[in-house]
Amino acid sequence: MKLRTRAVHAGHHPDAQTGAHVVPIYSTSTFAYGSFARGERLFAGEEPGYIYGRIGNPTVRAFEEKLVSLEGAQEAVAFASGMAAISALCNTLLAPGDEIVYLAPLYGGTEGYFLETLTRFGVRVTDAGSVENLPSILSPATKLIYFETPTNPTLRIYDLAAVAKIARARGVLTVVDNTFATPYLTRPLEHGIDVVLHSATKYIGGHGDCLAGVLAGPKELMDAVRAEGLRHIGGTLGAFEGYLMLRGLKTLPLRMEAHCAGAAKVAEYLARHPAVQRVHYPGLPSHPGHEVARRQMQGFGGLVSVELESKQAAAVFLDGLKLFTQAVSLGDVESLATHPASTTHQLLPSEIRELHGVTDTLVRLSVGIEDPEDLIADLEQALNQMSLVRVASR
Ligand SMILES: *Cc1c(COP(=O)(O)O)cnc(C)c1O
Repeated sequence: MKLRTRAVHAGHHPDAQTGAHVVPIYSTSTFAYGSFARGERLFAGEEPGYIYGRIGNPTVRAFEEKLVSLEGAQEAVAFASGMAAISALCNTLLAPGDEIVYLAPLYGGTEGYFLETLTRFGVRVTDAGSVENLPSILSPATKLIYFETPTNPTLRIYDLAAVAKIARARGVLTVVDNTFATPYLTRPLEHGIDVVLHSATKYIGGHGDCLAGVLAGPKELMDAVRAEGLRHIGGTLGAFEGYLMLRGLKTLPLRMEAHCAGAAKVAEYLARHPAVQRVHYPGLPSHPGHEVARRQMQGFGGLVSVELESKQAAAVFLDGLKLFTQAVSLGDVESLATHPASTTHQLLPSEIRELHGVTDTLVRLSVGIEDPEDLIADLEQALNQMSLVRVASR
């Protein structure tokens, strides 16, 4: 079946006992075995079933099943946040002396976890610099290659198939953070990537009302991650949040269509505006990753980044916005705007920020599902305030 149908129906079974049409919120910490013998079989893994809420919950399971279907994966595991998913995967795969190679830029929290936490546990963390550098950088210690596409916040596009090919030839696992694209626009596993992850807090939930994370990939690895990440570390998604994710995913295709259409209009408008120095949007033919994006994405996403004249201009612009809310996060139905250099990426050394294009003049817009005409009117009045301040300061 088509993705839009699967978004609605996958993981959706009427409740066996009551016939409840929508998957109920199973708000329970533990599950009755029914008998001594069954308890023994459950713990031995001889019989499938729920044991304890940290390790599994039927509402959360329905969300995992939907994601399995949408990403075309063998298995998926849900977590309490995107960072819980990332750290569970790394904790499962890495040991002291191992190396993780990444393609920059990354979400600030991920880069911080790699550089501050993983290195403390004796894992080598290497920025490959480019896909072309990968073959010479990979070593026998390299256990995984990690990247995002489009990247946060600069919207750089990486060629999924090209990275997968290099990694497969060397027996290195590939992990892609698919938060910005979502399975509606890109399914990395179809391009040869091994593991996909999401901050489901963003487009998957879609309404900015809770946090979640999810990993999808080969069954054996996902089972190991479930044991490590949930049984040992405990970054478990709650039943209510699992329900919100399940509900959010049903409308993912519709929301993504609206996000993409709105972002395309906003990007075209901004690209024509004289006060905007540069627009980063993979849908613009001028974007260096446009051709690759056309090949591996079914649409160009809801994020648009712009470079303005100065940090001060960015501040005036952001303070002038009325419909866009100044806040981190993205992928909500409401439009959001951030200044990454002073917020999400503030803790990174400024040389690394500049190197990755996270400049002081960069503003990131997460275009919501409002009418694009209203969004453009809001951007216009905020850009006008910028030029008024410029005139006043002359
Ligand atoms: C937000 C985000 C994360 C972290 O996810 P949380 O749900 O906030 O823990 C990871 N990667 C990307 C691309 C993100 O935008």
